[in-house]
Amino acid sequence: MPNVIQVKKIIVSLLLSTLFTTTINAKSSISHQCEKIQQYTMGLKYQQQSAEIHALQLQSYTLATLRIEQYLQQHPNTKDIAVVTDLDETVIDNSALLARDTEKCHDWTSWDTWNEWEQKGNPSLIPGSLAFFNFLNERGIKIFYVSDRSQENKSSTLSTLKSLQLPQVSAENVLLYDSSKQQRREKIRKDYHIIMLLGDSLPDFSSDFMTKQSKAEREQAVLNNREHFGKDWIVLPNSSYGTWSKDHLKAWDKPLN
Ligand SMILES: [Mg+2]
Repeated sequence: MPNVIQVKKIIVSLLLSTLFTTTINAKSSISHQCEKIQQYTMGLKYQQQSAEIHALQLQSYTLATLRIEQYLQQHPNTKDIAVVTDLDETVIDNSALLARDTEKCHDWTSWDTWNEWEQKGNPSLIPGSLAFFNFLNERGIKIFYVSDRSQENKSSTLSTLKSLQLPQVSAENVLLYDSSKQQRREKIRKDYHIIMLLGDSLPDFSSDFMTKQSKAEREQAVLNNREHFGKDWIVLPNSSYGTWSKDHLKAWDKPLN
């Protein structure tokens, strides 16, 4: 029969062994999580760090300005016209939040850090956006910011947009999530003729695009609406998140030697 000292040794050894196994499991789960996060880094780097994306953003806003100038030339006496824009990754850049979460191996695609970002975050402006919205404002065009940010954080979002000096930022012109984007566009259309839509995600443009569509359905909807792109629909690039992110890559069928 083991004596008291032997029993104590056995208990301590069992405890140490349990602690060791728990630590190993925790480390392996953290490392698995970190590995999973790595899949996002190339897209996020392109979105935040590439000069090419800034060039594309400037290009989008240059084209948008040109199209509005053309519209105004063709409709000199027009009234009650509006431009509708999405916010995130269209007007403002939230990549700092995604970079912070990636650094901490936190999977931000669960969107559980977004709420605090809406309240306390400091997004920057997408290149070209401020000049474009000031141009619209000077021409007397109504601007509606239509975003799926939360209603509960509306005062924070309004403060963020005001601190970035964006024009026409008011409770009436910033329409946050309370219905689908299509329903909010229909509400605007009761009083205004929408002459342009801007966004980084296809549902920013039409109910022809839905987040639950398959890749083939989305591509078909793009082809069906091809006359809008670059004309009255201006798409901003976003390589950091989107409905495409769960799709699989298509590989060359030739075996690798
Ligand atoms: Mg967006």
